Amino acid sequence: MKAVILESSRLYQRLISKVFSAFDLEVDIYDNGGAALVDIAANKPEVVCISMHLSDMTGIEVCQKIRSMGGVYQHLPILMITSEDNPDTLAKALIAGATDILQKDEADNIELRLQTILPHHVVKRHSGHVLYLEDSKTAASMIREQLKSIGLSMDHALTVKEALDCVENHSYDLLITDIVLNETLSGLDFVKEIRANPEYDHTSILAVTGVDDISRRIAVLNAGANDYLIKPIIKDEFYARINNLLESKKLFDQLKRERKRLLELATKDSLTTLYNRHFLLETAQCKFAEAYRHGYQLSLMVLDIDHFKKINDTLGHDGGDRVLKAIAKVLKKHFREEDIVARIGGEEFVVMLAHSDEKNTLARAEELRKSIEALKPIGWTTTVSIGTTTLNLHEKETFDDLFNRADKALYTSKNTGRNRVTEAKKEVSEVSGF
Ligand code: GH3
Ligand code: MG
Ligand code: MG
Ligand code: MG
Repeated sequence: MKAVILESSRLYQRLISKVFSAFDLEVDIYDNGGAALVDIAANKPEVVCISMHLSDMTGIEVCQKIRSMGGVYQHLPILMITSEDNPDTLAKALIAGATDILQKDEADNIELRLQTILPHHVVKRHSGHVLYLEDSKTAASMIREQLKSIGLSMDHALTVKEALDCVENHSYDLLITDIVLNETLSGLDFVKEIRANPEYDHTSILAVTGVDDISRRIAVLNAGANDYLIKPIIKDEFYARINNLLESKKLFDQLKRERKRLLELATKDSLTTLYNRHFLLETAQCKFAEAYRHGYQLSLMVLDIDHFKKINDTLGHDGGDRVLKAIAKVLKKHFREEDIVARIGGEEFVVMLAHSDEKNTLARAEELRKSIEALKPIGWTTTVSIGTTTLNLHEKETFDDLFNRADKALYTSKNTGRNRVTEAKKEVSEVSGF
């Protein structure tokens, strides 16, 4: 199946070709009407995209010439893509036979516009995995073929239990379920089970049934099916509905990825992927409140790499960065999910440990110090100085109080030879800015 593009801009040629290739259309590109018309006459393409201004004639003339070829050319879909906004010219294009006109500044919509004018047998190719719950093997194999022809693979489940097992063990882009099954349970039960699990909140479900009962249709949609189809399945309708469901899933997945990325950008340090200072301060507020409310121990470690300037001077800034990443990795490995490990400055880190008293914190800090000393990232013996302290539950202390105390202990470690851990006593309290 072919598509012809008449367009002189390389950018639009690429943009349109990309959309066509998703429909499995082979694309011929021209920047002049003469050669394109010869191709169109010889090859009967499924669709033609024309821009208004071409080197040898206007897009309007090309439309007229295509329509005058008669026969199939009278209903060949022609999409005019233009930056022209003169209503007279646009009306002339429609009169000359353009099926639809798309403004170039709306090029984002090209796929949707094409989908509405393309002949039914040109369907969009997908990639993905579908589960079909259906008690008839014959019906299932027919659907499998139809899905395969648009690029989708399918698992078949005969019972609700089998289908639920499949969903638990595989990842599906779409669930299709028959409603009336050869067992006590029905497709409606399957839909309800799926929707009861928040993990599958955004998995699309298409319900299919041979008996079109309005109350059941409403019940199935109310139970959480996203769409409903009546047997016998009309292929074009099936494809159109599947396309919509898969497109919304794609958009949702994209949104989810974007949200995760933004959250990471806001809370993580990009070099080490440890939490950043902002996240540490935000989280500290909650953790402190919880510690006071429930009376549990909360401790802080402040770490600073020893003679890091020398590492940078000797191994270069990139070498320094690699050392930072290697140490960040050790930090991540050493602490639990609920401990907050943050990079708060160039070569300074803070670890906030919930449910950890003085003794445990000191022991953990000592273990960490030893592992870092043994690490020798990129062949360079690297050490850290550490200060630790624990929240005084009998006084209303702030994060700043705790940080300043641990930081002071860290400088004791620095001043007494580095590569060591110093524990600040709770009583040693000072107030200054963090
Ligand atoms: P001390 O043992 O007293 O801590 O000595 P130091 O050399 O580690 O301390 P100082 O604070 O003087 O030097 C820290 C250096 O860290 C200075 C700065 O150029 C470097 N630095 C800060 N951020 C980064 C970074 O993201 N990557 C690299 N490679 N170096 C950094
Ligand atoms: Mg059935
Ligand atoms: Mg340092
Ligand atoms: Mg420093």
